[in-house]
Amino acid sequence: MTTQEHSFYTTVQRNYDKAAALTDWPKGLLAQIRECNSVYQMRFPVKVGNHYEVIEAYRVQHSQHRQPTKGGIRYSAMVDQEEVMALASLMTYKCAIVDVPFGGAKGGIKISPHKYSENDLKKITRRYTVELIKKGFIGPGIDVPAPDYGTGEREMAWILDTYLTFSRGEIDAVACVTGKPVNQNGIRGRTEATGRGVYYGIREACSNAEDMKAIGLTPGIAGKRIVVQGFGNVGSYSAAISQNEGDAKIVGVAEYNGTIYDPKGIDVAKLLKHRKKTGSILGMAGTKTLANKQDWISIDCDILIPAALENQINAENAHKVKAKIIAEAANGPVTAGAEEILLEMGIMILPDMYLNAGGVTVSYFEWLKNLSHMRFGRMEKRFNQNTYSSIIDTVEKLTHQNIGDKEKRIITRGADEIDLVRSGLEETMVTAYHNIRDLKKRRKKIPDLRTAAFINALDKVASDYMAMGVFP
Ligand code: GLU
Repeated sequence: MTTQEHSFYTTVQRNYDKAAALTDWPKGLLAQIRECNSVYQMRFPVKVGNHYEVIEAYRVQHSQHRQPTKGGIRYSAMVDQEEVMALASLMTYKCAIVDVPFGGAKGGIKISPHKYSENDLKKITRRYTVELIKKGFIGPGIDVPAPDYGTGEREMAWILDTYLTFSRGEIDAVACVTGKPVNQNGIRGRTEATGRGVYYGIREACSNAEDMKAIGLTPGIAGKRIVVQGFGNVGSYSAAISQNEGDAKIVGVAEYNGTIYDPKGIDVAKLLKHRKKTGSILGMAGTKTLANKQDWISIDCDILIPAALENQINAENAHKVKAKIIAEAANGPVTAGAEEILLEMGIMILPDMYLNAGGVTVSYFEWLKNLSHMRFGRMEKRFNQNTYSSIIDTVEKLTHQNIGDKEKRIITRGADEIDLVRSGLEETMVTAYHNIRDLKKRRKKIPDLRTAAFINALDKVASDYMAMGVFP
């Protein structure tokens, strides 16, 4: 990022202002929504080896217009108050866009997780959770953390265990955090959810012939050449699902230590195995390693998926982009300076606050599952299975034909939890895309999809505030 460019938080606020100016909501209300309501900065000591380290950490609640507030916890050396504030703000808009009834929040601990042993990470996570409990910053109806960059189900299990230690008799206690392991009150399909949502979003955008024509592409995700920057949880699932279910071609993958490229397409499953074995994506058979670490930006492709951190596409490198679509799987990967250049170049940007909302959507399903104390599908699976079987029997009787055993099994299957989660996620992502796109089409003054997404979110958050009677 160049020094003239704005910080991530300023970019979010500028994008907000650009959208807010196109609405008729009262100025005071727009000013209230824009700010982060509660910022909790903490320092606590943790014994690492023989010495004590002072850990810097945050939890920010951007808006309590709906409760609980919701958002992940990030472990990264880059964490600072402004970054967490930017991410918490995005969570408010993200939840509103996909109609998930939460306010936005985010947490961060300023550490490089790979520099710590598992035991140290456990101590840090537990202590962080205790700090949240002490100040009333966590709870099923207050604020519900989840995984983010540098954290996963292991950390969520530690948070849950710590919370349970302090919550005697609280019946819904396990809903205090989402993204938990399935055997500890998690939900099937949460780990893949953000990547799967990214796939549904891209697929939906690509399915519109008119929009694709406008950017010089044919409709459909099948055959589209994709480059993924960042091959963590979000990047790897986005790539794998786009390849397996969408028939897209993954032509490039970039990580912190380099980029691999193969115009014929990289087999994502094989790449994951290769990385597991060697510790790196580099050296994968059949692929070329690009000389410069930054070369991912200029690979000839149709869709570029930045799936790592913020500010990756900036005013310095934006002009090198060859893709026609930038699909923001990460939060804030495009700076304000880059956005101007990219829009000028006619590139379509699928905005983060819509495109990566699959994670929080499935977190919502997990939270609901925890509150209902029952797995999805338990009540209706057998009933549906029996109904479908009797339909098949009737058809067979009437037609005097037999449906094969394999087909019968497919047709009569009742939905399991994973089927329902995927179905709910697909419905959410498809509906939200059309809401944003239609809004942009309907109101000619809205210049781009990000602004449309912001206005969609803002209208919902503002109506909630109005309904509370805060702004008569
Ligand atoms: N960290 C994810 C995000 O940025 C998921 C948040 C959640 O599930 O609450 O959207």
